[in-house]
Amino acid sequence: MNQEYTSHPVVGIDLGTTNSAIAYIRGGKPELIEAANGESLLPSVVLIDPKGAVIVGQNAKDALVAMPDRSIAAIKRKMGSDEEIVLADQAFSPEEISAFILKELKQRADELYGEGEKEAVITVPAYFTDEQRRATKRAGEMAGFIVERIINEPTAAALAFGLDHLQKDGHFLVYDLGGGTFDVSIVEMFSGVLEVKASSGDHMLGGEDFDWLLVDWFAEKILAEHDIDPRLDIRGKALLKEEAERVKIALSSEESVSVSLPLVTLQENRPVGLAVEVTRSQFVALIEGLIAQTMERTSQVIKDAELSVKDIDEVLLVGGSTRIPLVRDSISAKLGLSPRSDVHPDEAVALGAAVQAGLKSGLLSESGLIATDVAPFSMGIAVLAEKPGGRIKPGGFSPIISKNTTIPVTRTEKFYTSAMGQTAVSIEVYQGEHEWVKHNHRLGEFLLEGIPENWKGQEAIEVTFRYNLNGILEVSARSVSSGEEMSITLQDALIRNNRREFEESVQRLQKLWENAPHNLEEDESLEDISVDDPEDWDLLPDFPADLDDPDEDWDIPEDDEAPTVLHEDGQQLIEQARKTLADLDSEQQIPLVAAIQELEQALKEENVDQLKDVMARVTDLLIDAEY
Ligand code: ADP
Ligand code: MG
Repeated sequence: MNQEYTSHPVVGIDLGTTNSAIAYIRGGKPELIEAANGESLLPSVVLIDPKGAVIVGQNAKDALVAMPDRSIAAIKRKMGSDEEIVLADQAFSPEEISAFILKELKQRADELYGEGEKEAVITVPAYFTDEQRRATKRAGEMAGFIVERIINEPTAAALAFGLDHLQKDGHFLVYDLGGGTFDVSIVEMFSGVLEVKASSGDHMLGGEDFDWLLVDWFAEKILAEHDIDPRLDIRGKALLKEEAERVKIALSSEESVSVSLPLVTLQENRPVGLAVEVTRSQFVALIEGLIAQTMERTSQVIKDAELSVKDIDEVLLVGGSTRIPLVRDSISAKLGLSPRSDVHPDEAVALGAAVQAGLKSGLLSESGLIATDVAPFSMGIAVLAEKPGGRIKPGGFSPIISKNTTIPVTRTEKFYTSAMGQTAVSIEVYQGEHEWVKHNHRLGEFLLEGIPENWKGQEAIEVTFRYNLNGILEVSARSVSSGEEMSITLQDALIRNNRREFEESVQRLQKLWENAPHNLEEDESLEDISVDDPEDWDLLPDFPADLDDPDEDWDIPEDDEAPTVLHEDGQQLIEQARKTLADLDSEQQIPLVAAIQELEQALKEENVDQLKDVMARVTDLLIDAEY
């Protein structure tokens, strides 16, 4: 048993796209927890082996080529989506797959601390959406952790560095280029207080993309020589991908690397291979466009922090892909600074998560270090807004917390009723930077009722956004004159709804988990079959789906649903409807003209119920016309 902790042990976890790691505090310093075999990084790959057992890590990664229908990599890219992942004919959610990775890490902590409850600080990219954060938190809970906090990866990296350099006031630029994601942030440290000033990134850019560029380059060579595209053969494609990563890594330390693959694919039952020399400058030519994009983001984030290049005091490089010399050279040239060499690119994020864990558990409370963070997006609600040409339209975005605000933060804004007799208002919550909500990301909605009937603009509604350190949002709305209040914690609402589903997941995962040996010895059933041996090819399972296709579009679909309307008062609505009429075809004009007439009638008769009813219909027609 470790002597140092008092209540539950708290660990820090880097749940990476490519590799994950877990760390703890020992003797006042963060340290990675190794597996029994001495490995500290865990490839984020999950396999269900032919015996039905779950395998996580290097063995699963080795089986990616041979068993693509049983294994999955880069699940982090799908977090927060409801895509189903089918492994060995069983469907899993991205959270469940991530929970397997976290279970494997938890096992390391269990070996260190013994069984029993453990709290975890888990990192996510700074630009992860609220949904992606909640999915990460649930994955941690499914794996059996109490998830103490979700923190941003750049904050973690800065914490790891800050702990050793407490006297170093200034601005740090954290450039994190991993396997599947790119993150760049400006962190300020002043008297031990760390604050992320600005963050940006690209969740579709990383080392994997460099691998695929090399795969294409290899494929073009084969195509030119043999007139066959090896990428059409899923085994060939997977083999080239493996080779591409090897070549890429070797080119970080060597000027030239040779490829010699006797068998990539078959052409009329004859093997087609690849023998070629790749130089560093050829590789640079392939990737320099992508690296240039990261440099543009870097300039942007410096601007967002209202700084200039000369204000940056230290550069911290994080992520395996920052070992590429072009990355180091580009960033040094841009900033006129050499990157810190005492930041370990693979470990910094997990170590920093452990530092945060230590601050929470009290193990590091004497250190004098404090971390704050920023909101990665603007968050606000849908309102009526003016379109060019003066038309008032529903669906405008009114931010309440703006991007890069230091968190935790609570902000309240006042809004007013927009219709006569309006007794309810629908609060629709969005995150994003566009002035129209349909281009932003919808987080949720609720209805505030019990507003006293009054004239338009006479009733005030206070809307409060609370954004906590886990990056999770709570929204409430209150009618000022009646005191009537409604709120949602987006996270609680979700967990309550899915409680049963969650419990079922936990049990199902546990069953599959218990099937596995988890003794870290090579799995014999995998050793018997080799993808390199064509005689074994019949033994291999079929390759139904391309799990690793970089072109696959997994983005959360844009929310096209029409926003609910805050009602316009009758007269204004009629004006607006008349302006709209001109843009409509006759099929849409007819019902709108009829509704306008009804509305005029209702206004004349001052019948509040009827008025509300017709106004709602006219508004609906206007929305239909818009979308
Ligand atoms: P993630 O944060 O996405 O989990 P990592 O920070 O672990 O990723 O980085 C993994 C990526 O780094 C992979 O694409 C891997 O190929 C790449 N990588 C690791 N070592 C090197 C190296 N020496 N040169 C170039 N790329 C490397
Ligand atoms: Mg990473």
